[in-house]
Amino acid sequence: MEVIIGKYAGVCGGVKLAIQKTEEAVKNEKNIFCLGDVVHNKQIIDNLKAKGLKIVYDIKDVPVGSKMIIRAHGESEVIYELAKQRNIEIIDTTCGSVISIHNKVKKAREDSFIIVIGEKNHPESLSHLGFAGINSYLIEEEDDILDAYMAFEETGLSKVYVVSQTTFSSKKFDILEKEIYTNFIEADVVVDKTICNVTEFRQEECKRLSKVVDYMVVIGGEKSANSRKLAELANEICKNTYFIETVEDLKNICFDGSKKAGIMAGASTPDYIIAEVKKYLEEV
Ligand code: SF4
Repeated sequence: MEVIIGKYAGVCGGVKLAIQKTEEAVKNEKNIFCLGDVVHNKQIIDNLKAKGLKIVYDIKDVPVGSKMIIRAHGESEVIYELAKQRNIEIIDTTCGSVISIHNKVKKAREDSFIIVIGEKNHPESLSHLGFAGINSYLIEEEDDILDAYMAFEETGLSKVYVVSQTTFSSKKFDILEKEIYTNFIEADVVVDKTICNVTEFRQEECKRLSKVVDYMVVIGGEKSANSRKLAELANEICKNTYFIETVEDLKNICFDGSKKAGIMAGASTPDYIIAEVKKYLEEV
């Protein structure tokens, strides 16, 4: 079968750098802890764990005086403070684009109510909220906007500053942005669409590719929000879309009669998995 790999498929610069820094850290020292999964990809995590990385989900589980990696998604301001109190050395792999949002939010929180458009429970969104302080609200769906407005009213502020999780759906962001302007009509609203360019390009390429192939294969970790979003986008256009983690997930699928397959992969999918999937599809 002819196979086309979408442009921008796979690991982005931010994740690549986070993995490199983590690999260097575990190579040089034994007791390296990471708060949460470095990236949302099981294969990469298993590999790093095999090299000695210890993953914990609460900073209290990081021993005093040890070294701790902050992953590409970033962490709340309070984690940096707690690390300092516990004499924990931070190896910060937060992506530059995420740091830039933290800095913007820190500045805006002085006189504005902050709205983060993102997924509830996504570590990156929570990191932005953690920098935004108490006058902030996380919006994922249109239904959240009224509650956000009520929270805004209680603050007595007149300004609203809106940012986004870098991997949020661009289409959904635009819908929510319109609704925010409608609902916060009396407020002074500034919207900063902080979706990462790579994410936008990848989503556009995914849609374009889905139109010209018989099958779409989206590769990404189960926990990877940006990969899941790619699969949703592909599925809206190409009904033969499969969301997989590794080549093994393709083994029970019958590709009879198809001529062309497209591959798209999320920000944390390593190149070698993309290559394995390509090879498999070329041979079916
Ligand atoms: S998707 Fe963009 S913001 Fe997120 S880690 Fe990659 S480069 Fe950074």
